[in-house]
Amino acid sequence: MKTFIKKNQFNYIKRCLNDLANNYKSCVDINVVEASKAYTQDKILNLFTNLSEEEREILNISKLKEASQIDSYLADLDNYVYGMATITSAQVSKLFKKEKKLKLPELNQEASKKVYLGWVDKASNKLFVAYNMDEKLIGMACRITNGGSSKANICSLCNCIHVDNEVIFVSPICKVSNAGEGGYKSIGFSICADSEKCNERIESVDNLEKILKDVNNIK
Ligand SMILES: [Zn+2]
Repeated sequence: MKTFIKKNQFNYIKRCLNDLANNYKSCVDINVVEASKAYTQDKILNLFTNLSEEEREILNISKLKEASQIDSYLADLDNYVYGMATITSAQVSKLFKKEKKLKLPELNQEASKKVYLGWVDKASNKLFVAYNMDEKLIGMACRITNGGSSKANICSLCNCIHVDNEVIFVSPICKVSNAGEGGYKSIGFSICADSEKCNERIESVDNLEKILKDVNNIK
């Protein structure tokens, strides 16, 4: 089976179809449900460019006639989903070579498809992120700070609103072009403490890529 759906695209489709399932359950007017289904179909297809006939058929939701079919459809669809390419501990070590006593993440990525790899090192009180951008592995080491606790607890990557302590405020260590001259840049944002859960929710990589470019001084 050839995978063609990115994990974050799948997360988006999953949310759209769960909304549709709620429509099936709560809406008695079949015309309204059908309109919602057509709208959902458009949203799904608009995620992609250059779909093959076969792929288009896989994404065709006209066969879904009731809410109970949606879970099994999503389970089937998951077979066509791919996450980030497997990375090795050597690659992670190289990415964060400035970090002393780096705690390596769990790397059993086959088990779960991921948009990005994220993990917390309690000893250094840092959160690490590794991500494949345009086939190149980039990352950021973020200090976990106590600041920002009064801010809205919205994860910058998955946009989920959390109750306290499920989201943490971090400040990544930024690369700057004028570091030798004492150049310094400071940014901060909120992020899910549990990257497994964040990976199940993140629907777009736009924010993630924007932050990573900013932190790594990539234009
Ligand atoms: Zn998140």
